[in-house]
Amino acid sequence: MNKIKPKRFPFTINNVQSNDDIDMFFMSVALEEAKTSLKCGDFPIGAVLVDEYHYLGKERSSAFTDTSWVSHAEMKLFSKYSPYLLGTYRANPNRYLCLYTTMEPCIMCFGASILHRVSRIVIACPDPNAGISSVFACNSNVGIFYKSRVPKIEFGILGKRSCALMIEFSKMGISESSENIYKTFTALEATLK
Ligand SMILES: [Zn+2]
Repeated sequence: MNKIKPKRFPFTINNVQSNDDIDMFFMSVALEEAKTSLKCGDFPIGAVLVDEYHYLGKERSSAFTDTSWVSHAEMKLFSKYSPYLLGTYRANPNRYLCLYTTMEPCIMCFGASILHRVSRIVIACPDPNAGISSVFACNSNVGIFYKSRVPKIEFGILGKRSCALMIEFSKMGISESSENIYKTFTALEATLK
């Protein structure tokens, strides 16, 4: 077990801690990270890790500023907390680990989620261009190692706001796929809450 100590659950909302309140709170934190990425000229994606209802940390995508294909919000979290997460899994293989992310994870980050035994992924906005979770969850051809560890996946919290950030990003013309991103997410926006 490494030395990272998770922070205690950081808040109460009118003394009510329903699961919906908890999800909304952490997705809001992730969305603030996404806004910071947008200001820095990066893909506007933020993520939060919660372990047994303890807040572990937050990160944001910085692939452009880092000139790195692995500087995705989710991967940065896993890189930072991997030894800790291995320790908590060995201590309790049934421990709850939740990843909140403002955009459907790519194949790299979804793969890392499985390897880190994430129990549940809460996603704000689907990514029809690069998201892999829905495809992966339905694919019966994956090996037993993966099949037995596919996290529970939920979409929808703050989806429209995350989508709007991606549209703003596409208008900046930073990504070589800006035009495609703009078309995809403007079409998607009308379908989201
Ligand atoms: Zn990713």
